[in-house]
Amino acid sequence: MSSTSLHGYKDPSVPELDDETTYQLNYWAAKDIAKRSVLGPFICILGLLGTAPLSTIFDDAHGLLVTLFLLLSIGGLSRFYILKSVKTLTEKNINRWKQLVSFAILSNAIIWGIYLAANIYLYGLNTATLIILLFTIAIEASAAMSIFIWQKLTQLYVVVILLPSYIVLGMHEGIFGLSLVFGISIHIVFIYVQIVQSNKEYWTAICNNKLLENKAKELTVAKINAEKLKEEAEKANETKSEFLSSMSHELRTPLNSILGFAQLLEVSTTPPLTLEQRDNVDYIKNGGEHLLKLINQLLDLSKIEAGTIDVVIEEVNPNEIIFESVHLLQPLADKMKIQLEVPEESDTVVKTDRTLLKQILINLVTNAIKYNRVGGRVSISYAIENNKLIKITVVDTGIGIEKEKHAELFTSFSRLGKERSSIEGTGIGLTITKRIVEEMNGHIGFESVAGEGSSFWIELPITDHSNNL
Ligand code: ADP
Repeated sequence: MSSTSLHGYKDPSVPELDDETTYQLNYWAAKDIAKRSVLGPFICILGLLGTAPLSTIFDDAHGLLVTLFLLLSIGGLSRFYILKSVKTLTEKNINRWKQLVSFAILSNAIIWGIYLAANIYLYGLNTATLIILLFTIAIEASAAMSIFIWQKLTQLYVVVILLPSYIVLGMHEGIFGLSLVFGISIHIVFIYVQIVQSNKEYWTAICNNKLLENKAKELTVAKINAEKLKEEAEKANETKSEFLSSMSHELRTPLNSILGFAQLLEVSTTPPLTLEQRDNVDYIKNGGEHLLKLINQLLDLSKIEAGTIDVVIEEVNPNEIIFESVHLLQPLADKMKIQLEVPEESDTVVKTDRTLLKQILINLVTNAIKYNRVGGRVSISYAIENNKLIKITVVDTGIGIEKEKHAELFTSFSRLGKERSSIEGTGIGLTITKRIVEEMNGHIGFESVAGEGSSFWIELPITDHSNNL
C-alpha cells in the first residue's frame, strides 16, 4: 500500500510507505477523528436548543424534536464509546472501526439534516429557518474541518446534512428555493475544494514526517548496532593482539636457542664442519633470522594495535636520526652497491619521538634499498613546513610499484607479488610504519612509477622547533 491512497488523498510526490507505516498513519488518523468528533453531537444539541424556540416547531412537531434530541444524545454517547475503544484498535479491526465511526458521524448529520428540512417543510423560508440553515452551514463546515482526514466521510457528511433540505427546497419553494440550493452548493463546493487542498498538503507533510521519523529510528538502530559491532571488533582485536604478543614471546625463546646453537655449530672446530654442513647451517641461520624478524614485526604490530606504544616527545635533531638509521643500514646498501644520500648537517631541532621516528626511517630506507637495483641510489631529505610539520622523504631509483598495486600497499602481509622474488620480506613493515605515523598524528604517502623508482614521505607534527639550539 502506498501513501498515495491514504484515505482517498492522492499525492504522487510522497514515496511508497510500507504496510507497518501505513497502519500507523491510519491508526493515528482514527484516533484524531475520534478525538475531534466527540463534540459534534453536543454542538448539534446546542443548536437544537438554541434554534427550536425561534420557530413554533416545538409546538408543531413536539414528537419530532424529542426524537431528534434523543438521537443526538445517543450520538454523543456513542462518540465517547468510540473514543474509549480506540485503544483496542488493531491492524485487523481498523476498517470495521472506521465504518463504526463513519456511521456515528453520518447519522448525526442525517438527524440535523432532517431537523432543517422539517423546518423548511413546515414554515418555508422565514427568518427562523434561514437562521437554522446558516447554523447548518456552520456545523457542516466545522464538522468537515474535524473529519477532513477521511475524504469520503467528509464528502458524505456534506451530502447527507443538506440533502433533505435540498429536496424540500426544490419541491416547495420553487425558483427561489432552487436558486438558494444553487447558492449553498457553490458555497459548499468552495469549502470542499479548500479542505481537499489543505488536506492534501497536510497528508504530504504527515507522510514525509513519518518517513523522516522512520529513517531517524533506523539510523539510531544502525548506530547502536554499529557501536556494538565496533565494541565486538575491538574486543576481538584486543584478544588477537594479546594472543600474538604471548605467542611471539613463546616463539622467540626456542628460536633464539636454535640460532645460538647454529652459530656455535658454525664456529665449531672439533671436528670442523664440512662445506656441505656449513651450507646447511647457513640455511638454518637464514631461516631462523627471517622467522625472528617476522616474529619481532608481529610483536610490534600487536603492540601498536593494543595501543601499548607510548609516544615520548623530546627534542630531536632529524639529521642525527637520519644519520643513525643510514649507518645501521649501510652494510645492506653496500651489498647492492647502493649510494645513500643524506641531508647536510644541521642543528635543527624538532619535538618528536626519537625511537619511533628512527623505526619509521629504518623501515622506509630498508625498503628503498631492498627494492632497488644494483648501483642505485637512495636519498633522504626533510623540510620543516610552517613551523608545524616535518616532512621526511625517502626517494629511491629502484623497481617501483605498478599503478594497479598502489591500493594494496599498506595492507598487512601483502607483498605485491614480491613473495615470489628473492627479496626477503614479511609484508607488514609498511603496515607498522603507517600505524606508527598515525599514532604520532602524522600522515604517510608515496609516489611510485614501475621501473623508475619510488618516493615515500611522512609528515609528522612537531610541537616546536628551533635552529641553533
Ligand atoms: P616487506 O618489505 O617485508 O615485503 P613492506 O610492508 O615493507 O613489507 O612492503 C610491502 C610491499 O610493498 C613490499 O613487498 C614491496 O612489494 C612494496 N614496496 C615497499 N617499499 C617499496 C619500494 N621502496 N619500492 C618498491 N616496492 C616497495
